[in-house]
Amino acid sequence: MRTSPSTCSVDAPSFRAGRKRETVADEGLRVLSVGFGRLIDVSRFRLQPTRAQEAALLEHCGHARYVWNLAVEQHAHWQPGRKTAPGFAEQCRQLTQARAEFAWLRGGSIIVQQQALKDFAQAMANFFGKTHRKPTWRKRGQGEGFRIVAVKPGDVRRVSRNVGEVRIPKVGWVRFRWSRPVGDEVRSYRVTRDRAGRWHVAFAALPEPVPAPGSGEVVGVDRGVAVSAALSTGELLNAPTLRGAEKTRLLRLQRKLARAKRGSNRRGRVKAAIAKLKAREADRRKDWVEKTSTGLARRFDVIAVEDLKIGNMTRSAKGAVEAPGRNVRQKAGLNRGILAAGWGRLVERLEQKAPGRVQKIDPRYTSQTCNACKHLARQSRESQALFLCVACGHRAHADVNAAKNVRDTAAGHAVAARGGFGLPEPVNREPQRDLLLMG
Ligand SMILES: [Zn+2]
Repeated sequence: MRTSPSTCSVDAPSFRAGRKRETVADEGLRVLSVGFGRLIDVSRFRLQPTRAQEAALLEHCGHARYVWNLAVEQHAHWQPGRKTAPGFAEQCRQLTQARAEFAWLRGGSIIVQQQALKDFAQAMANFFGKTHRKPTWRKRGQGEGFRIVAVKPGDVRRVSRNVGEVRIPKVGWVRFRWSRPVGDEVRSYRVTRDRAGRWHVAFAALPEPVPAPGSGEVVGVDRGVAVSAALSTGELLNAPTLRGAEKTRLLRLQRKLARAKRGSNRRGRVKAAIAKLKAREADRRKDWVEKTSTGLARRFDVIAVEDLKIGNMTRSAKGAVEAPGRNVRQKAGLNRGILAAGWGRLVERLEQKAPGRVQKIDPRYTSQTCNACKHLARQSRESQALFLCVACGHRAHADVNAAKNVRDTAAGHAVAARGGFGLPEPVNREPQRDLLLMG
């Protein structure tokens, strides 16, 4: 990830998903979450359509707005207790029917129309995730735009020093100001028109890989129970949360919300204030994922992480030693969900920034095996935070001990080779020493 000062972490400038604050600096390089939680680099350019092209672009905007508003209307009719409002797949089927029926809709781009539905689905997900307000009607002339996906390599080209061109379906080649490099792998782009009538195009591309240091060093990263992530180097990383004063404010607002009358203005204001705080926390976490993944990709040749698919199944075993009270457990369950989402994003970003250098490790027994003597015993897990080997007395931070086991597994050393109380041998991955030679 390029870490220019203009880089910040914000949500997608989605189709007025709730009323988003206008943080879009002109032609800033940003990291966005687009679609379903995917993180990609986005850079924005000034689009310079001809008169005729502008008319065609406005038509795309109109179609996107029409489809979006249809989705809003469908969901407005939905009420608790009724059959669920149609989801994205169902709406796509309905769109196909509508296109068969109406020539003017059929005349437009199906990508534009489908993406409007996708944006709406994302806006609803954000709403249910309580980070955004409920998506509302879009009016002509206000934050208009549409998205094009499945962009082919030749669809963006440079024609002179300061001029580029992008091929837009049903519009053709439209010029834009080539004010800085466009990423190599443009996956999708979004065309927007602001209230002043200016057009922009924002390209979304996969981030450029971070070069490996070439030191041969392997790091193990454990998705901690006590911390967000622990490294085999002993570092403990914590994803940021709300600060003390903000937490207090959030609690106060939540109490206020419980008292506020349904449908009142006050309730709306309180809800908006809560959404703002939660969005701030989400932004901080995204930023943390960016910095952490870039840092790891830059410092280590091989980054070993637990395989989430296997990890989710065995996670309960990992926490079983603690046997906390019921309330603690419930809360842990909630946090786990949030942490799991953040972890998934961290691994995804690592794989993008360090392609071929991320190894996913079967996490079974990594938390119960002593890194010093390899003895495997559930009883060694003293507490959530402390590992105390029952065989050799080795003491360590539990998550760091696990991270070291993750690292050693990646480096080809057996974990949980002996000991154990009737537990089956863990299935270790094939050693991949050749990975250590790269870079
Ligand atoms: Zn030991």
